[in-house]
Parts: sequence; structure tokens; C-alpha cells
Amino acid sequence: MAKKPVDEKSLRAEIETARAEYEAAVVSEPAHVAAEKSKKVKTLIGKLAAALASGADVCPKDGSAAIGMRRKAGLYEVGCLACANRAQGETAAEAVENWNAGEYVAAAA
Ligand SMILES: [Zn+2]
Repeated sequence: MAKKPVDEKSLRAEIETARAEYEAAVVSEPAHVAAEKSKKVKTLIGKLAAALASGADVCPKDGSAAIGMRRKAGLYEVGCLACANRAQGETAAEAVENWNAGEYVAAAA
């Protein structure tokens, strides 16, 4: 089955660039300019979270959207923002598969 590949690498590069622009703006630009840059970073992070959870079903417990994240290299997690449901995998796609299969891990303390 063909899955749309997550363009994680280019999104991460975009986030790094946006974050650097924000940090520079904090020092040298008026507050409203820095706030705009901060918003861009948050938007991109949200885009990455959605991309990493691409194909994930909504949480069966509360119907909330699932988001994805990379815990560290080789460990991805898909989770619900509203409850403690989480699934993990070695790739984003594997984490989504486990999530959709209801194979959750215990919430981190
Ligand atoms: Zn939930």
C-alpha cells in the first residue's frame, strides 16, 4: 500500500530557518514583528505535527485529532492532545499504524 511520504526533512529545515529569524527579530525588531515570526514558527510546528500524524484516525476515546512528533531519532509518537492515548513506532508511518490499530503505550510520567 502506498503511503504519502512525510516531508519531514524540509519541514524541519523550514522550522529551523523560521526559528532563527524569530530569534534575530527578538533582538533587532519591534515586538509585533517578533510576534509575527513566532506565529510562523508555531504554524510550521503544527504543520509538522499534522504531517507526522498523516493518515491517523481521530482519537477513539474523545474524537480529538491526533498529532505526531519525533521523540528522538528512530522513535516517533502519535498522540491525542485531549487524553493520554499515545502510540509509538520507529517511523512516523509505523506510529500511525499502531495508533490506528489501538496499540497504545502507557503515558509518560
Ligand atoms: Zn483522546
